[in-house]
Amino acid sequence: MAIVETRGLTKHFRQGQVGAVVDVDLESREGEFLVLLGPSGSGKTTLLRMIAGLEEPTSGEILIGGVVVNDKTPRERRIAMVFQSYALYPHLTAFGNIVFPLKARGMVREEREKKAEWAAGLLGIKHLLDRKPRELSGGERQRVALALYVTHDQVEAMAMGDRVVVMNFGRVHQIGTPSEVYDDPADTFVATFLGSPPMNLVEHGEVIVGFRPEHFFPVSHLAGRAAVPEDILKSDREGPYVPLHFRISHEEYLGAERILYGQLEGDRFDGKKVISRMSSTHGARFESGSLHAFAVPERELKFFDRERGTRTKRVPLA
Ligand code: ADP
Ligand code: MG
Repeated sequence: MAIVETRGLTKHFRQGQVGAVVDVDLESREGEFLVLLGPSGSGKTTLLRMIAGLEEPTSGEILIGGVVVNDKTPRERRIAMVFQSYALYPHLTAFGNIVFPLKARGMVREEREKKAEWAAGLLGIKHLLDRKPRELSGGERQRVALALYVTHDQVEAMAMGDRVVVMNFGRVHQIGTPSEVYDDPADTFVATFLGSPPMNLVEHGEVIVGFRPEHFFPVSHLAGRAAVPEDILKSDREGPYVPLHFRISHEEYLGAERILYGQLEGDRFDGKKVISRMSSTHGARFESGSLHAFAVPERELKFFDRERGTRTKRVPLA
């Protein structure tokens, strides 16, 4: 049974204005770690405040354990939710508060301690893990709580969440496992919000074609040599590939990774700006202004409706 469920949940702070939360249908499952992810102002806090009973919905229903709780006070809802500063468990240490939901879902000790340590490091609260909430400042308490449920940090959300709810302008764009939302984005917002650098999007007739920077690489990497005959592009086990000509404008060297910026040239997608991301172990040189044979595995191409931005069926790239 769903622990927390919302049906058509909507909040308009002012009449006539765009909703802070619009028509949200959510179902969190037993023991699941569900993370809300979206840019600032996308409605995460308002959604959680409505669930907790701190904000009255304009319309829609909230169910806890299958029972509609719209008319219940926060206290009556009795939901064990770690909620910014005001809902840490006072008898638990910061560490205890962070691992609690992981423990509740049956994660083994070693793994949850590792996750908690990692999250604490990310938020700069490692030195505070032994303290109780009353021994922490407001901001520190907030970070302990924020280590868990609401985040705009996608790395954190992807690492911590069993499922991720991607929101923008009050609406849920997609709910899925971290790999589902990353590999199979429902629309162009999800495709570009997740991932850094974001998915390349290029217009092509009625559709937008998307491919991740890590799937856009030099053809020379396929065969270990600079000049590659067309048939390798077709026969390699990852293939078939779509060959593309990439004019490099500049390179960003990030230690483990190299990010190449530039634009496509030639028949397909001429002049479209795109990004390639590869491991620094690839030694090839890419001078500014040089032209290179690149490729994308055909199966890594995602197609979006140009008008609505939502996923659509594959089209041939003639
Ligand atoms: P997030 O937590 O994702 O950053 P919020 O839920 O805080 O987003 O905000 C969603 C939208 O609702 C924003 O446009 C914000 O300005 C608006 N909003 C939030 N709280 C109030 C309020 N009390 N009165 C009016 N507008 C609000
Ligand atoms: Mg917020």
